[in-house]
Amino acid sequence: MAEVDLHLHTTESDGRLTPAELVALADQRGLKVIAITDHDTTDGLDPAWKAAMAYPHLTVIAGIELSTDIPRNEIHILGYYIDHRDMSFQLMLQQFRESRVDRAQKMVEKLGGLGMALEWDRVKEIAGQGSIGRPHVAEAMLEKGYISYFQEAFEKYIGRNGPAYVEREKQIPEAAVQLIGAVGGAAVLAHPAQVDDLDTVLQSLKAAGLKGMEVYYAQYDEATVARLAALAKRYDLLPCGGSDYHAIGTPGEHLPGKAGPPMWVAEELRDLAMEQSYGRFG
Ligand code: AMP
Ligand code: ZN
Ligand code: FE
Ligand code: FE
Repeated sequence: MAEVDLHLHTTESDGRLTPAELVALADQRGLKVIAITDHDTTDGLDPAWKAAMAYPHLTVIAGIELSTDIPRNEIHILGYYIDHRDMSFQLMLQQFRESRVDRAQKMVEKLGGLGMALEWDRVKEIAGQGSIGRPHVAEAMLEKGYISYFQEAFEKYIGRNGPAYVEREKQIPEAAVQLIGAVGGAAVLAHPAQVDDLDTVLQSLKAAGLKGMEVYYAQYDEATVARLAALAKRYDLLPCGGSDYHAIGTPGEHLPGKAGPPMWVAEELRDLAMEQSYGRFG
């Protein structure tokens, strides 16, 4: 069990626990530092901080996860200690969320064409007020009985190369790294093991201002963690990580604190973000 978990989702995106429920679970699991990293939204932060007042030994870091596409692959960029009150940042996020709605709608259309009709209103209802995403579509498919388990949606239809996948509006990972830097945050490459040609990507993102990469990711075995740790060291990137918990409830889902970096990484991340902020105002 880790004391630090830097990758967690809530109902504000595609997680199934509210920010307050997630904070309570994190404390129950003995975590000391967590980051809420919802997809393209920071709306979970204020309720999480409010809930965390009941747990004085638990720190909640302002985080986010931005999605970007590169040819044949998608890359997620995490941001920590971001100034989420920045208005132009919030406007960008709002645009990203709007394009998620279009994209989800197109996936629903494609699924319809494949004989799996879904009611758009039901998909929206499942997503609730949060940032809509593929897990919400998967849930609607499960309800209709088009698939027999959650992951099947990704394996057969809406995975990156599936027949009902729709690419998001072009957002390149370098731009996401810069956007996080612009709001005083530290940018970190998420779940890098599934990225092809990782060396090239790391070189380019490092030049754009990347501060870390996930190493202690709950789904990675020891050998993968060791390989990524060596790579992080070589590129002078902080070895971050976490559970990427969504509370989907699939068998074997990794709970908060299943994996995460040592405490010094969270501290260093804060220092790097601080330097970034000085650069921004100084
Ligand atoms: P989106 O933000 O719409 O592109 O959806 C990405 C989200 O879908 C990820 O953050 C995961 O929550 C989920 N996801 C992606 N691939 C899979 C998979 N193979 N199995 C289960 N969930 C997945
Ligand atoms: Zn997700
Ligand atoms: Fe991700
Ligand atoms: Fe995630």
